[in-house]
Amino acid sequence: MNKGLLIVLSGPSGVGKGTVCSVLRSKMPNLTYSVSATTRPPRQGEVDGVNYFFKTREQFQEMIARDALLEHAEYVDNYYGTPRDFVDRTLASGKDIILEIEVQGALKVKEKFPQGVFIFLMPPSLDELKQRITGRGTEEQHVIDHRMSVAAEEISLIRYYDYAVVNDEIDAACKRIESIIIAEHCRKDRF
Ligand code: 5GP
Repeated sequence: MNKGLLIVLSGPSGVGKGTVCSVLRSKMPNLTYSVSATTRPPRQGEVDGVNYFFKTREQFQEMIARDALLEHAEYVDNYYGTPRDFVDRTLASGKDIILEIEVQGALKVKEKFPQGVFIFLMPPSLDELKQRITGRGTEEQHVIDHRMSVAAEEISLIRYYDYAVVNDEIDAACKRIESIIIAEHCRKDRF
């Protein structure tokens, strides 16, 4: 049996990664979502173990010490990391897994999984991105400003990714990513 594909989806805050992931999962039954650990407080409606594993800083440090994270990074004053075991088990079972993570973490994953598929989700423009972050109303102004400055840095690192997909319209963007995953499964070096 072929191992599953490890897919990394990055892109600036507010670009729509979460929505893209949930649409893709509903369309692609072989695609599993990696639930990250974070020290960020839950947003309204977020559920522990579904959206994230919400941790204290001490609990997060303990996961790092146990080497339980495949990668971790600090993003806008909070820690985020990918639990390693779940990724390994999913790939070994032949399923694909998608990691929705920021750029620093993605670069660390690339060192460990150079065969991974690295996709960067782009906003149609920075103005549109700011409107989307502001519009969701979940962040205070200083956090929005910080996320916008990180967005510009992240977009400058797009060269490390295999694919760039513009999220101009959600169904179209998902279709493009679905096509990328299907094509990656047909790579001759997987046989
Ligand atoms: P948010 O606070 O908006 O949920 O996420 C902030 C950023 O952290 C997003 O760019 C998201 O993709 C990223 N992120 C979420 N989980 C992880 C993770 O496990 N590792 C890393 N490096 N970034 C993550």
